[in-house]
Amino acid sequence: MKVFVTGGTGYIGSHTVVELQQSGFEVVIVDNLCNSNIQVLDGIEKITGVRPEFEQFDLTDEKATRDFFARHRDIKAVIHFAALKAVGESVSMPLEYYKNNLNSLMNVLLSMREFGVKNLVFSSSCTVYGQADVLPVTEQTPRKQAESPYGNTKAMCEDILRDLAKVEKDMNLIALRYFNPIGAHPSACIGELPNGVPNNLIPYLTQTVAGIREQLSVFGNDYNTPDGTPVRDYIDVIDLAKAHVVAIRRLLDGKNKANYEYFNIGTGNGVSVLELIQAFEKATGKKVNYKIVGRRAGDIEKVWADTTVANTELGWKAGVPLVETLANTWRWQEKLGKG
Ligand code: NAD
Ligand code: UDP
Repeated sequence: MKVFVTGGTGYIGSHTVVELQQSGFEVVIVDNLCNSNIQVLDGIEKITGVRPEFEQFDLTDEKATRDFFARHRDIKAVIHFAALKAVGESVSMPLEYYKNNLNSLMNVLLSMREFGVKNLVFSSSCTVYGQADVLPVTEQTPRKQAESPYGNTKAMCEDILRDLAKVEKDMNLIALRYFNPIGAHPSACIGELPNGVPNNLIPYLTQTVAGIREQLSVFGNDYNTPDGTPVRDYIDVIDLAKAHVVAIRRLLDGKNKANYEYFNIGTGNGVSVLELIQAFEKATGKKVNYKIVGRRAGDIEKVWADTTVANTELGWKAGVPLVETLANTWRWQEKLGKG
């Protein structure tokens, strides 16, 4: 059974390709390598023993996308990871973000409809909830106006899926709303490859411990949280990858209850920035050099998932303990070294 994975050489995509292959699926990847590296294929092959099929082109190219589907008539399902994802950059380059993230989804959906591919899993984000009034957030928690063009692309893509599902009754679509993905494959063959100075907490932290960055800035300790630092739901990337396999199976087995569904994919646990630093120190025995600085603009105070629906409906539950996730992350950073 062949699954088409867009953005499959990226961080979450590559881990999902591994889990798909290990679950018996055949995979074909398309990626334009704007934020990933072709050597990721070596890492995947090293883990699974199988090199996934790969084509390099930009999914905003409608003709190239259509030609691809025309050549791969055996695709049964699509997982659409390909997107630009840097929140700050999206504020300064809104048109590039809307063009890339919306047009790539549009082209994939147009070709799926034309070539009769019925099943899609889409990468959404807890960013659609913004600062929710009630925690933890359930799938019924109202979405809030996005804080950034990036966040807005996720909300708009979800809306496209919802509207399409209303008229294309035999297309089956699932949006997975990821909380904060972290970690790396325990083999240290694949992991996150941040481009330039990382914006996210974990790559900044591991680069600090590795001596690439001088000091981690903790953005604010005056929030209304137990220790004053913001709280997030950090989900291991392998658990997240497995959620995609479960979602694909649900669609292929016709177990979905509606032809557009969306699920929270998190652990259900809120962890503060200081708690995460402490857990990293415990997991690795390394000291993190950090200082408290002012708040980062646009940050929300706290968010974590109610995962009841994913647990009961998908039959999926996060399982990797946080210390293990952080140990895997550090093993990956050690492998990357200072490069
Ligand atoms: P990533 O940048 O590592 O992977 C995305 C991949 O898509 C990259 O390999 C990139 O080269 C490719 N790509 C981007 N635009 C493309 C295009 N037009 N054509 C072909 N390839 C293209 O990002 P990731 O962290 O693996 O994220 C995967 C998905 O999950 C994205 O949609 C992202 O928005 C979403 N998401 C990520 C997070 C997170 O914190 N990492 C959280 C929530 C949602
Ligand atoms: N954060 C931090 N220092 C950093 C990067 C992030 O203190 O260098 C904090 C940030 O304020 C937030 C949490 O870590 O509370 C997670 O941030 P990240 O950018 O990883 O994910 P977000 O939840 O913002 O998408």
